[in-house]
Amino acid sequence: MNVLKFGGTSVGSVENIKQVIGILEDYSKTEPLICVVSAVGGITNKLLKAGELAQNKNETYLSEFKDIKSIHLNILSELISSQDTTSKEYLETKLQALKSLLDGIYLINELSPKTTDKLLSFGELLSSYIITEALKERGNSIMRKNSQELIVTDSNFTKAEVNFNLTNTNILSYFADAKQSITIIPGFISKSEGGEQTTLGRGGSDFTAAIIAAALRVNRLEIWTDVSGMYTANPKLVKQAYPIKNLSYQEAMELSHFGAKVLYPPTVQPVLDYNIPIHIKNTMVPEASGTIISKDYTNGKTTIARGISHIDNMSLLTLQGNGMVGIPGFSKRLFETLAQEKINVILITQASSEHSICFGIANVDTIKAEKAINATFENEISLHKIDPIIIEHDLAVIALVGDNMKNHQGISGRLFSALGKNNINIRAIAQGASEKNISTVIAQKDVKKALNTIHERFFEEQNKQLNVFITGVGNVGERLIEQIKQQKKYLKEHLKINLRVIGLSNSRKMIFDDSGLSLKTWKVDLDNGESASLEAFFEHVKTFNLRNSIFVDVTANESVAKMYTNYLKESIAVVACNKIACSSDLENYNNLKLLSRKYNAPFLFETNVGAGLPIIDTLNNLIASGDEVTSIQAVLSGSLNFVFNNFNDKTKFHDVVKQAQLEGYTEPDPRIDLSGVDVARKILILARESGTDMNLDDIENKSFLTKANLESDSVDEFYQTLIDDEAHFQKLYASAQSNDCQLKYVAEFNNGKAEVGLREIPEGHPFYNLEGKDNIVMFYTQRYPEQPMIIKGAGAGADVTASGLFADIIRIGTN
Ligand code: ADP
Ligand code: ASP
Ligand code: MG
Repeated sequence: MNVLKFGGTSVGSVENIKQVIGILEDYSKTEPLICVVSAVGGITNKLLKAGELAQNKNETYLSEFKDIKSIHLNILSELISSQDTTSKEYLETKLQALKSLLDGIYLINELSPKTTDKLLSFGELLSSYIITEALKERGNSIMRKNSQELIVTDSNFTKAEVNFNLTNTNILSYFADAKQSITIIPGFISKSEGGEQTTLGRGGSDFTAAIIAAALRVNRLEIWTDVSGMYTANPKLVKQAYPIKNLSYQEAMELSHFGAKVLYPPTVQPVLDYNIPIHIKNTMVPEASGTIISKDYTNGKTTIARGISHIDNMSLLTLQGNGMVGIPGFSKRLFETLAQEKINVILITQASSEHSICFGIANVDTIKAEKAINATFENEISLHKIDPIIIEHDLAVIALVGDNMKNHQGISGRLFSALGKNNINIRAIAQGASEKNISTVIAQKDVKKALNTIHERFFEEQNKQLNVFITGVGNVGERLIEQIKQQKKYLKEHLKINLRVIGLSNSRKMIFDDSGLSLKTWKVDLDNGESASLEAFFEHVKTFNLRNSIFVDVTANESVAKMYTNYLKESIAVVACNKIACSSDLENYNNLKLLSRKYNAPFLFETNVGAGLPIIDTLNNLIASGDEVTSIQAVLSGSLNFVFNNFNDKTKFHDVVKQAQLEGYTEPDPRIDLSGVDVARKILILARESGTDMNLDDIENKSFLTKANLESDSVDEFYQTLIDDEAHFQKLYASAQSNDCQLKYVAEFNNGKAEVGLREIPEGHPFYNLEGKDNIVMFYTQRYPEQPMIIKGAGAGADVTASGLFADIIRIGTN
């Protein structure tokens, strides 16, 4: 004989009940079975709500009742042929009794725990009746047995304790004579020895099934629900969670105690004594193998940590005081007080100094607990031996569970560092003496992020998810998105990185999707997005609170650069091709570096110098490995290189600059390139990254432009002055020509000083043959004193800049 329990969703719709009927008829072909059912999904909550409304003199309890009534009558009418009026009449009588009870509550304005149980019992009584009738009409050999006649409890209403002696006797004697192949039993409900209706606690139908399974020593207890087993974490919050094939009784108990709702915690105890395995199955996907919970299961090749569970909405209470050490029986008095108030203690952590004791309870219990504890220790508090209780609200506990964790070192280290890296603050830690469980208390708002972070660390070790938010989708941004789209599969397969773009913004619009935006339709989607603002974009990123979040700045905008501090403080990494932040005043640059370290949030800007060339990364590696930079010589402007490579006595300087702008090699305002400011910013960044404190003003800028060029008020005016001053530029060319030199715009850093300017480069110099828009950097260091380390290649263009940004993003993923 087997016991099968079907939960609320399984009996929550006609469709699902038909599925249940199929499973029962299939099973009963081979052996008799017992089927425990919950109330129709959502009905217990509705009954409770109706009761509370009635108690508060709110007449809308009637509409809640109407809802309850129509849900049941609809299901019945769909399952039973219309000729059968008796079952409909029976159901209506029961529903009338429910209405009378609610009316009574409304009249007397009171809903005691005792009445609550009477009220909630209707849920299981109604559902079990409907299912029995449906099976009966289909010709099955079936009986319904009211569990209130079997399960005997004390009078602790809403969560009564079972009297196993009486209960087992009742169950054994009923089933000794039962002839039917299917017995339907309402879960959750029971009666006290005095005959009052009681319940076993919310979610208690699982327990009913376990009590019956244990009393009859059946072969197997099956819990049929709406998910395919006990998952590695709540599948509603962790998309990557998967069903655990096997669990030990202890592991299942720990997981359910710490919030894995799929199994009501007391369920394991009765069956554990007789080694009856529990099989968790999915009613909607019966072919899925589900989870088997048993004693004989050995850990085998599975993960060491077996699952994560969590409890929302808890508070941490701390009782402390210098006088606590000497007070005898202190903890005993504390926990007795809580027990008297029927307050469930979720976890306890005690400092070894015994100066304080800290424990977690549900948020809803805090007022009661505060009052009771302050009363118990009134005397000690008035003598200042103990401080009044300290309460922190809105926390959650997350438990990592596994029988074998005790045999492996470093699990807690991995757990805490994963949380730390994602800026999840741990308020308290508790590790059971059995070491089957490590519990951490964190802020409620961090739960989803923490679950996903821990899950990724312990259950998907091979994969790392990067959540990217991009601001600026011009030339470079668009190329970046294209590259991400192309490489997604490769990253997953080769680097185990799962890269998703969660947010996108241009100056007008922004869009978000926390499961990843479509990289095919993003342009249209963005056009239809919400109005953009830098602050709103940041608020969205912050609220998503996703692990491994990366903000990518693909603008040249100062206001965007000013937002970096906000991101870094939330432990959100920043990747920028925008040079403004790193070339801003030293204080700001240092502060960004500091925030990046403090909040464990990478701040990468490889593309600030030489687009996609690995210049800053190489420099950082040299320094990290103990080298020292003595001098840097570089041609860092792709734009200026393009201009001087194309300018000669047969072209006009104005035309060459215009062409460079049209081909996208200059900043939108070409003066930033031609004045040397852009190059000055780049050498400043390299100097700073080499360890020299410097500001833009400290860089000597020997401009080759005329006074008129420099003083122009607009881009158009600037172009006009280039035409006017053509002779000046031809003179520069002629001079270089006569000296057999090439004109190159050079940046130099030497002995803590830096300068930028146009130079005549003689043949044989590494800069002489620099082509097109190429960049070149020569690092002279202690390890490279004579022959410099040289990095050379295309230093401008949307594609290479995008690939540099992409490389920074991947660098975060592989670290
Ligand atoms: P039933 O009504 O069938 O008793 P419950 O709602 O009580 O179903 O339990 C199933 C639900 O438990 C799932 O839908 C899921 O949201 C939740 N749940 C929480 N943690 C887990 C977990 N670790 N594995 C599976 N389900 C979980
Ligand atoms: N119907 C009850 C509840 O919702 C018992 C159960 O479903 O297990 O809590
Ligand atoms: Mg349940």
